[in-house]
Amino acid sequence: MKSNAYLGLGGNIGKPVAAFKAALSLISDFASVISVSRLYRSTPFGYAEQPSFINAAAHLTTELKPFELLDALQKVEQDLGKRKVFENGPRAIDLDLLLFEQLVVKTERLVLPHPAILERDFVLRPLSDIDPGLTNPAWFGKTLEWALTNLQKKFITEEPEEWEYLK
Ligand code: AMP
Repeated sequence: MKSNAYLGLGGNIGKPVAAFKAALSLISDFASVISVSRLYRSTPFGYAEQPSFINAAAHLTTELKPFELLDALQKVEQDLGKRKVFENGPRAIDLDLLLFEQLVVKTERLVLPHPAILERDFVLRPLSDIDPGLTNPAWFGKTLEWALTNLQKKFITEEPEEWEYLK
């Protein structure tokens, strides 16, 4: 049975958009890419002395279970040369599992829904492009649309650029 999963993509070294395309191509080996958000540029979170980030989100369907999907996404990051220099530092590609069906998971390796969705508008906004009605039991009935209008927005530095959609 296929599950719906939502992915966050980010990067700030090299050519992030090319890295996103390469990642989505590798991901299509183990998931169907249903849709991809617009691209956003955001100020670096945590450590300011680095290039701005490009962010996007994608809707996937997959036969994989949540931890299998995380394993597969981490392998894609490694294959694309992710080198995390330090926490919140620059990286060529960062893939985060944002939502997996209606699951709520709190383990060391996997937290769902990903806490960044409600904390950082560079995650919230691309995900809302895909479906503003998305919700999760951890949000007590609130939707992404609610979060978008009610939470403080502080990371997006520009309106979405007129770049071609990834797909
Ligand atoms: P980062 O490289 O900063 O994205 O952090 C990756 C670490 O976060 C890995 O150890 C993952 O196992 C852990 N992690 C926890 N929850 C998630 C999630 N929902 N998506 C991706 N990584 C996660």
